[in-house]
This record gives sequence, C-alpha cells and structure tokens, in this order.
Amino acid sequence: MRNDKHAPAAAPVSNFIRQIIDADLAAGKYAGVTWAGQPGPAAVHAGAPVDPAKIRTRFPPEPNGHLHIGHAKSICLNFGLARDYGGVCHLRFDDTNPEKEEQEYVDAIIDAVRWLGFDPGANLYFASDYFDFMAAAAEYLIASGHAYVDSQSAEDMRRNRGTLTEPGRDSPFRERGAAENLALFRRMAAGEFPDGSHVLRARIDMAAPNINLRDPAIYRIRNAEHHRTGGKWCVYPMYTYAHPIEDALERITHSICTLEFEDQRPFYDWLLDKLAEGGLLAWPLPQQIEFARLNLSYAVLSKRKLIQLVQEKHVDGWDDPRLPTLAGARRRGYTPAGFRLFAERIGVAKADSWIDYGVLEECMREDLNEHAPRRIAVLDPLKLIIDNYPHEQEEDCFAPNHPQKPEWGKRALPFSRELWIEREDFAEHPPKGYFRLFPGNSVRLRYGFVVKCTGCEKDAAGNIVAVHCEYFPDSKSGTPGADAYKVKGNLHWLSARHACTAETRLYDRLFRAPNPGAGGGDYLADLNPDAKRIIPACLEPSLKDAQPEERFQFERHGYFVADRVDSRPGQPVFNRAVTLKDSWSKAG
Ligand code: ATP
Ligand code: MG
Repeated sequence: MRNDKHAPAAAPVSNFIRQIIDADLAAGKYAGVTWAGQPGPAAVHAGAPVDPAKIRTRFPPEPNGHLHIGHAKSICLNFGLARDYGGVCHLRFDDTNPEKEEQEYVDAIIDAVRWLGFDPGANLYFASDYFDFMAAAAEYLIASGHAYVDSQSAEDMRRNRGTLTEPGRDSPFRERGAAENLALFRRMAAGEFPDGSHVLRARIDMAAPNINLRDPAIYRIRNAEHHRTGGKWCVYPMYTYAHPIEDALERITHSICTLEFEDQRPFYDWLLDKLAEGGLLAWPLPQQIEFARLNLSYAVLSKRKLIQLVQEKHVDGWDDPRLPTLAGARRRGYTPAGFRLFAERIGVAKADSWIDYGVLEECMREDLNEHAPRRIAVLDPLKLIIDNYPHEQEEDCFAPNHPQKPEWGKRALPFSRELWIEREDFAEHPPKGYFRLFPGNSVRLRYGFVVKCTGCEKDAAGNIVAVHCEYFPDSKSGTPGADAYKVKGNLHWLSARHACTAETRLYDRLFRAPNPGAGGGDYLADLNPDAKRIIPACLEPSLKDAQPEERFQFERHGYFVADRVDSRPGQPVFNRAVTLKDSWSKAG
C-alpha cells in the first residue's frame, strides 16, 4: 500500500514567512505594482510585468564557491514560495566583490538550481549590472547630505566606531561639504587613489545603539578587475549597500536571508527609504525577513572549510560524493525530490538549531523507496553449490521490480547450480537466533527454491571457500505447493555464471562526530576514514547496462546510483547513496 509519507504535501505547511506574505497580499500591498516606468537599469525591466497579486523572491548566491546543502534549503524556500504563491523567484549572482567570482561557479550554480527542480527562466540577474545605478545612487546620497567621504586610516575608523556599550566618535571628515565629497568620490572612482585611502560612508548616527547604523561604509576603493565589468570600476559597493538596492531594482517583495543579517535590517530600510524619497526607487520597497540557517550534523557547511577539504585533497574534488555540496550529493545518488522533501520537513524558524544528518538520509530513502527499481547485488560473495542441481541446467526465476508496484512488472533472474550469496549469510557455528544458512538448516533463496545446507569447504588456512546444499525441486517460488515449505531465512543470491562484477563505492558520512571540531578541536581530526570503501560487487545481469545516474535499490543493501562521471553502460560503477536503515542513530 502506498505510504502517506510519500505523497506530496497537499497544502504547504504554514510558517512565519507565509504568514507575513499572506498578510501583505491581504492588505493589497503590491496592488498596481508593475515594471513599467520604474527607475533603474533597463536590464532589470526585461522580465515579465509583475502581476499585482503576486510575490517576487530571490536566491542571491555569491559566485565564489559551490552550492551546498544549506543553499538547497534557501533555494527550496525562495523558489518554493514563488511557486506556491504564483510569483517568481530571481536567481541573482551577488558579484559585487571583484577578483573572487568566477564563471565556473556561475555555471555550476545555475546547474544546481535547475537540478533541484527550479527554473529561473529569464529571471537571471547579476548585481554587477547595477553598478552604474549604485554609483549614481551614491552620488545622490552625497548630494542630499546622506553620505560623505571619510579619509581616516582604517585603524582610526575602527577606534572611533565605539563598542556595544560606548557610542562612536564623529570622523574629522564627517562635515565635509557635498561638493568636496562628490569631487572626491569621482576621483576615487577614476582610480586616482590607492586602496584603503578613502571610503564613502552613509551619514547616519555615530551614537546609534546599533553599530551597523554608525555611518556604515558604502563604497570602497578596490583597484581590481571584475569578472564581468573588467577594469571599468576602481570603487566597489559594500555588500550591505548593494544588496538592498539589488532587491529594490528587481522589485523583490520579500527578501529572505539568514539570521546574521537581522542587525543589518535597519540600514537596509534606511537606505531604501532615502533612495525612494529621492525618487530613485519606487514604493512599495522590499521587506527583509530573516530565518535560521541550516546546520547539519556530521557535515560542515562553511565555504572556507569546503574549499579546504577540496584543496588539501581530503576528498576527490567538488563533486566527491562524500561532500555536502549539491554536486557531491548528486553524484552520491541523492535526489532533487529528496531535497525538496527535506526542506519542507525541516521548515523555517527564527531560532538557530541543528538538524540531524539522519533526517536528510531519511528523506532520500523515502524518495528512493518510491522511485528506485529493485535489483540484486552481492557485496561480499561466497560460493553456494547446489549439489543436486544438474551442471548444465539453468532456468529463470522472476523478481518484482518494486514490491508495492506490481505495474512495474517482473524481471528474470537466471538460476543455476553455483550461486553467490553474502558471506554473512552462512555460519558454520550459528549464533543464537540465526536463521540463515548453517549445516542442517533450510532457507529460501528469494524468488527461487528452498535449499538445505549440507556443509562447507575450507582452504588450507581454514577460510570457508564454498557452502554446499541441496535444493527441493518442488519449492520454486510462485509454483503450486511452494508455500508448503516453512522456513525462516530468505536470502538473496546471484547465479555465479551470469552475474557481472562492477566497482562499487560504499559511501558513508564524511565526519564521524556530530559536530566536527566541537570544543575548539580541529574539524579535520573528525573526518571519518571509512567514509569511502571501494569493493568489486557481484550484480545481477540486468545492471550491466545501467545508464549514468540511474538509481536502484540493491535489496538488503541500500540505494545505489550509477556514477554520473565514471559509469557507462557495459561497464557500470555504482555509488551507495544511503543504506536501507540508519546505522548511526544507535551508534551515536
Ligand atoms: P559567504 O560567507 O561567502 O557569504 P554564504 O554561505 O552566505 O557564504 P552565499 O553565496 O552568500 O553563501 O549564499 C547565498 C544564499 O544562501 C544566501 O541568501 C544565504 O543566506 C543562503 N545560505 C547560505 N548558507 C545557508 C545555510 N546553511 N542555510 C540556509 N541558507 C543558507
Ligand atoms: Mg553570504
């Protein structure tokens, strides 16, 4: 029977963000908002007009790294809200920082968003396209007395900023006149000054209790090339200045970000209000809403740490299946629907918390259980010889492709005298409660015959090299009378003559500690040395032609995917995405 957990949620679960949106829509906040006639760069208005009843969100990655599972939460949230409310979500590259950004990341990010099942369509933007507008807005702030050029040293600036308990002190340059500020800012932009010699600051209040309002820097000198604007600019906007403007120009309605930006919200609102008062932007202005970022146990989600893991070769590149990057998760065999389910299940909250890695694995299991056809693999093979089965004989047994989906049909599994079984499925001296093969015991070979164990063969060193048994010809599954055999064990097997062998990578969690590096330790010391194990597995013949990225359940072993890089039909390579059961919750 279909498990209800697998059905897509009929109606999305409400949360504090949805409540804000519902209230805004009910109040008609966006009634009459259109693109037409808005100020700002023409590039922004190329998109479709805003339907007054709809919302506009955005996912704004900085193209300086690969996306990880934390970003998946933000992508599913922003694109999911737009989808559910019939709005749109922009994919905007926040490339205000020169030097660091690269096209390689831009391409990989677009790929990852599409893979997760979201299509930004024409709503693909770059913050650097707004640099002209941002500079003009800075000039407006200077002219209207809301910004000034500060020429203090970085050290003086820091000293005069004050602390949480003490107010800051005004810069000696704070009362410069607008004309002088404007001339200086233009000379900064023209490349006349070295980095750090001047900075453009908002003129707000050096005594504000919120330090972010103590005349924050809005433009700095960086004599650097930008990956999209080249050598055009010698000044670059600060993130806190650029981001609200990007949102406003794109007519974002709800600008959803992580909690660390909460203290920046007053500046976000101050800036947009000033620019709207000056006629540079239009009301209604975007609203910043903060939510708790994803923290995932047994993983690290910091760009710096992910880069270190790759650069120091603790993993085999950005798409290593052990890495919590989306490229790694994809290679691992995790699914887009599994991520969407995960995002829905963890929800959004206002308070920081940790999500157990097992929750993510369970979401992947649920999706894979629903969609992955069943196959047989023997990972640690031991020969089983059926002494009363004729040498040359072979016949087909039939195994369902999915136990809950008869419409998926059955496939033939060849049966013959010599089989592979799992080494752990035989015990010469069985422990208590052992129902598998041991001398004198009978088990069913799944979808095949009942066999009775007669003994085993050993090599000179005493290792078991083969198990012997006899089969009951009238016990074949699906034939009349087969049910008369009552046995407790039910083993999977493969015909040795027909099975193929393939490189199979058994992946596990990258870290063995729930919070790597907790207590000030080196997080690298918590790497799990057993997170990757490569074995030659025996596979049923039908797996030989698996297509890259085809996913299967290997019965009793877990969910596997044909590696999208190394696997090809005829010579498959499999990665284990997740085991059938959580083996960590007991251990941890
Ligand atoms: P950086 O420190 O380089 O800014 P970042 O992780 O914030 O790193 P961005 O590219 O700026 O990376 O992130 C893009 C978006 O993804 C942001 O809106 C950010 O809030 C969101 N995001 C990043 N990490 C997480 C996380 N762990 N959980 C939820 N959202 C996240
Ligand atoms: Mg960021």
